Amino acid sequence: MRTDVLGVGYDDLTMPEAVSAALGLMQGRNGAYAVTPNPEIVMLAQENPLLRDAIEDASLVLADGIGVIYGARILGRPLKARLPGIDFADAVMGEMAKRSMSVFLLGAKPGVAEQAAERLMARHPGLVIAGTNDGYFKDDAPIIEKINAVSPDLLLVCLGAPKQELWMQKNAQRLSVGLMAGLGGALDVFAGNVQRAPERWQKLGLEWMYRLIKEPTRAKRMVKLPLFVLAVTGQRIKGR
Ligand code: UDP
Repeated sequence: MRTDVLGVGYDDLTMPEAVSAALGLMQGRNGAYAVTPNPEIVMLAQENPLLRDAIEDASLVLADGIGVIYGARILGRPLKARLPGIDFADAVMGEMAKRSMSVFLLGAKPGVAEQAAERLMARHPGLVIAGTNDGYFKDDAPIIEKINAVSPDLLLVCLGAPKQELWMQKNAQRLSVGLMAGLGGALDVFAGNVQRAPERWQKLGLEWMYRLIKEPTRAKRMVKLPLFVLAVTGQRIKGR
């Protein structure tokens, strides 16, 4: 049973549980994918049934963003933990490194995935980088061919929402990979181009504010956050 927050069903997992579920799914090699919807994506899913469907089809739906945690709490069904997509992927790759497993990095502007690959190899010795590709391709077919040629255990799909969720759902059956994870701007962070908030800000649940200060152009996207809080309160009052 998933925990519903405004129509998005979350898996109620701790970080170690999510990592172990991911490693288990990789063994299956049957088109499984993980998504990490933050409040912005939850609001987007309300207007976009295709995105909602792609999230529902995911094998893992992780609670990214403090807003989701507050939302679930307000609705009276608290989730065990906040699972930022970047921390999740980092923990999974840490375990993969111990087993010499492989990851393919797909997404971001040209050059970023290669930069991320170098930093990830240094951070997780033993991790195999199976390949990289930027996220601004036109045709899926050559990309799928390139990925299938190396058949990685993990494929990071960093194309931004909702593109990455729709892409993973559409191509799940054509891809020979252990598990996919849709991670938005994660490659920019792994590459060292975008800094995350200091840990203290993260712990206080203020990572969103830090991002807003660093990238003021995000304000337009963030106007959805108060709407998210309003919608959660509405759902609570309706008693759903
Ligand atoms: N991106 C991409 N292909 C596209 C559009 C976006 O690879 O067609 C990349 C973009 O370069 C960035 C990421 O997707 O690295 C989206 O980052 P953003 O921070 O906007 O995503 P979020 O994590 O907020 O969903």
